[in-house]
Amino acid sequence: MSEQTGGAALFSDALGRLEAIFERLGANGEVRRRLAQPVLSLEVAIPLRRDDGALEVFRGWRVQYDTIRGPAKGGIRFHPGVDQGEVTTLAFWMAVKCAVVGLPFGGGKGGVCVDPKKLSPLELERLSRGYLRAIADVIGPDRDIPAPDLNTNETIMGWMADEYATIARRQVPAVITGKPLPLGGSPGRIASTGRGALTVLDLWTKRKNRKPKDLTVAVQGFGNAGYHFAKLAHERGYRIVALADSSRTLHHPDGLDPGPIWEEKQRSRELKGLVYCDEPMHCAQKGTKELDAENILSLDVDILVLAAMEDQVKKDNVDDVQATVVLEIANGPVTSQADECLTAREIVVIPDVLANTGGVIVSHLEWVQNRTGEYLDEKEVNRRLDARLTAEADRVMDLADAEQVSLRTAAYMQGIGRIAAAIHSRGHCQEAD
Ligand code: GLU
Repeated sequence: MSEQTGGAALFSDALGRLEAIFERLGANGEVRRRLAQPVLSLEVAIPLRRDDGALEVFRGWRVQYDTIRGPAKGGIRFHPGVDQGEVTTLAFWMAVKCAVVGLPFGGGKGGVCVDPKKLSPLELERLSRGYLRAIADVIGPDRDIPAPDLNTNETIMGWMADEYATIARRQVPAVITGKPLPLGGSPGRIASTGRGALTVLDLWTKRKNRKPKDLTVAVQGFGNAGYHFAKLAHERGYRIVALADSSRTLHHPDGLDPGPIWEEKQRSRELKGLVYCDEPMHCAQKGTKELDAENILSLDVDILVLAAMEDQVKKDNVDDVQATVVLEIANGPVTSQADECLTAREIVVIPDVLANTGGVIVSHLEWVQNRTGEYLDEKEVNRRLDARLTAEADRVMDLADAEQVSLRTAAYMQGIGRIAAAIHSRGHCQEAD
């Protein structure tokens, strides 16, 4: 398998992992053929009037990979590296993860090839609304429901929900999730991806009779998901010894408190080692070492958390990994070749399609609330997130033990098995093989 980058390589790498799963499940030819390509792939041009009056045109996509188990579901990312292959791969992973945790959704994803940091707030709003207008015909509460992803957030979802309401000439809150609370968003949605990842890690820790306080953790990626995971894990007693964003790694052997570092990052827009304040807890951050960003991967810790982007651990750096457990919060942070190396070294990988489902689980609750008009409080949202994820993750871990396979293989068996069952139940399968 090649280790080249780019969306096309990512997609063939992702599909390559399926062959072994199909074998294990004894999937027939029709299931294989249906899952080999997306059901819909829309490429759009989004004209943007810049603040200085110049016109620029950006490329965007919305891909619905599979809709056999329900409407497509998945986020929208704004990033200069976005291309059709990447969006397709991410849509495929959404289909798998919704099935792994039993949500009545297929998989979708959207993206715009843009560096949002180079746009003014008003340009960002115009681009977000323009993208929504371009994909409006293919989305809807029963068809395809977008949500936030890399570099998009609840404010952007609010603009898009407003734009959709203008087009539809009525309120359709269930068309998009991850909205601000006043527009029908769900409490707990912002922290849900990090919270869900901790739920899965906690379950693994408990099953292995380990105690959080005895485990050291390094977190790559200090965006929304990485921060909420780190904060909640710190509160649970795990020792967060390192945090990294794309520019640097902060390391403190006694443990870092993610809260003040996040506040400082929000203030200064960069990750800083020293947090100046009068609170003794904050001052304990002194003595923090600053390392290069990529050093996070090779630290001698128990748990390495990958919460940045796809393609982070690959052939050239996989041997540097010292952790005994890798927790994938980002989508696809470990290439399949690197995954095989980690498994050969008996490093446990808690896979993305299980570990990062907290966001879409709470998105499902938001979608249900928007449709019924009955809203849940944060405590109930968190309880339901925890209950669903614990039950499904327990099932995956039992399957991994029973079949003597990796957690990723077990999660894919559960997810692809459910998709295959839906294909069979619809009566589409004619083949006896
Ligand atoms: N973008 C998130 C993910 O990759 C959430 C998707 C959603 O809530 O629909 O899982």
